[in-house]
Amino acid sequence: MTRSTLTHLECGMCGTTYPPHQLMNLCPACARPLLARYDLQRAAQTLTKASFAGRPATLWRYEEVLPVQSDAAMLSLGEGWTPLKHAPRLGERIGCANTYIKDESLNPTGSFKARGLCLAVSRAYELGARELAIPSAGNAAGAMCAYAAVVGLPSHVFMPVDVPKTFQVECKVLGAEVTLVNGLINDCGARVREGAAEFGWFDCSTLREPYRIEGKKTMGYELAEQLGWKLPDVIIYPTGGGTGLIGMWKAFDEMEQMGLIGSERPRMVSVQSTGCAPIVRAFEENTEHAELWQGAKTVADGLRVPVAVGDFLILRAIRESGGTALAVEDSEMLEYAGVMGSLTGIFPAPEGAACLAAQIRLLKDGWIKPDETVVLFNTGTGLKYAHLWQ
Ligand SMILES: *Cc1c(COP(=O)(O)O)cnc(C)c1O
Repeated sequence: MTRSTLTHLECGMCGTTYPPHQLMNLCPACARPLLARYDLQRAAQTLTKASFAGRPATLWRYEEVLPVQSDAAMLSLGEGWTPLKHAPRLGERIGCANTYIKDESLNPTGSFKARGLCLAVSRAYELGARELAIPSAGNAAGAMCAYAAVVGLPSHVFMPVDVPKTFQVECKVLGAEVTLVNGLINDCGARVREGAAEFGWFDCSTLREPYRIEGKKTMGYELAEQLGWKLPDVIIYPTGGGTGLIGMWKAFDEMEQMGLIGSERPRMVSVQSTGCAPIVRAFEENTEHAELWQGAKTVADGLRVPVAVGDFLILRAIRESGGTALAVEDSEMLEYAGVMGSLTGIFPAPEGAACLAAQIRLLKDGWIKPDETVVLFNTGTGLKYAHLWQ
């Protein structure tokens, strides 16, 4: 048995609660995302600052606030506990000395999708799923296939036809059945749901099952731990489905309830591409939900998400934090990848470079002050996108 203190699932929209130990997708009552809830008082008894010294250098160091119950279902390829790198040369160039990069490119499969899918697959395996399916325009599918391969669960992947070869090949080599779909990610999602209904596949789409967010939230725990239990002033996050942003916001709340941090929060900045910016538009129009973005197009595959089922949770976190949302051009991502790379030694994914473009704009606008502590998320490795600079 793990030290998990999972108690129930709760709908993020309507608040209905469900017992946790059954396979579930969206809230049966309102078709919105379910969130995992824990007995945080009990978790706080063992998840103490002093306890971390002896824990594994993976996301499983936070097992009290993760959902997995049996040791055998804690699948691991070495995910999480990525470095938080201070970037002094970059900071000096852009006039923001306390600039840090959380380098998620070092995760298994080269992106932070490994965190979410590690938990989703571990839990699906534990609860008896027999086959897994996922729609993906980039890194999510590879991450699911990797963890499925650890325990031999068959994987079905649906990708838009124009997804770069690297992402397709990765899934095939990891043993998945890959189907190319003439359409966008939402069309792929529809195919997954057909297969789920017909063949009983378990749908691992982001926020359509409750545990990917639990994997991603560990980025919030790591940030706090790596900064000595003091959060930064600003977090800049490249937003597709928003799982990581929602997850970190949830983590901060849990940490406060456990007495690990106080009530101060970073300002959460959501970055999207000008070719697909539904959250930015909804933020600017001050609406609770984001409408579908027509004709979504960007080289940042992780940001090509025209409609997010957790839109209201992303927007809530940005607003409650006093944050903001902005879109950057694809050309800026490619250019700033070189700036980040040559000044830090990290070859970022375009999504990571988008954070730098946003930071520079927010510094110019005076929205970020030069002495503030800013964390950029490099969510994946540039190596998987090398075709973009060729
Ligand atoms: C999926 C992805 C994102 C977006 O992450 P969300 O948490 O879904 O918003 C950003 N960058 C990369 C490299 C990704 O693969």
